[in-house]
Formats: sequence, C-alpha cells, structure tokens
Amino acid sequence: MSSQSKDKQGPPPSLYLPLEEKLYRVRYEIDSDHAHIRVDPEVCGQCREKVCTFICPARVYTQDPEDSNLVQVHYENCLECGTCRVACTRGGVIWSYPNGGQGVKYRFG
Ligand code: SF4
Ligand code: SF4
Repeated sequence: MSSQSKDKQGPPPSLYLPLEEKLYRVRYEIDSDHAHIRVDPEVCGQCREKVCTFICPARVYTQDPEDSNLVQVHYENCLECGTCRVACTRGGVIWSYPNGGQGVKYRFG
C-alpha cells in the first residue's frame, strides 16, 4: 500500500466522535458508597492552574460554579487512566481504585 493511499484513509472515524458518544462505549458499576477520587479543598484553593479540569479525558473535574477556587469531582465518570494523579503536582488528588467489581467496564476490551 502506498503512503498516499494510507494518508487518504485518515484516522479511524471513532476519533471524530463527540466525547459523550465515546463515553457511551464504556459501562460503569458506580460505587455510590465510596468515591474513589476526592480532592483536598485546601490544596485546590491555592491552585491557579487547575490542570485537572482540562487534562482528564472524561471531564471528571469541573470548576465549582459556586466557588471558582474549588473543583467538583464527578468520580462516577472516571476511566481509571491515572492521568490526573500524575498531572496534579500539588498533591490535591486523593485517588484509590474503586472497590472490587466497581468502576469502569470496557465493553470492547
Ligand atoms: S486537583 Fe490538583 S490540579 Fe486540580 S485544582 Fe486541585 S490541586 Fe489543582
Ligand atoms: S483517572 Fe483518568 S479518567 Fe479518572 S479522573 Fe483521573 S484523568 Fe480522569
């Protein structure tokens, strides 16, 4: 196959799907008794960058509408990729794996 015909193929169509549709491809067993991600409000209150609000592929972290210094955590949407644990260099993320059998389930492996 020539490189020209490869270029014409382009990326797979799934790359163009909106986030909501991509997230529809995973399933969750939500552990409503145990939020496996929390943040330290004292640390977050001092954080200007709020890198968690744009680094997470599932938009788990959003700015708190009532206090822009804080973030809200929608842990039930977490894909367990671990990116936020690395990206938050301030130690604001308190992260553990969901309890056994809970959390994200990938439908396609
Ligand atoms: S979790 Fe980390 S990156 Fe996000 S607001 Fe808190 S300290 Fe900042
Ligand atoms: S582990 Fe990944 S999907 Fe889950 S909150 Fe962190 S960045 Fe988002």
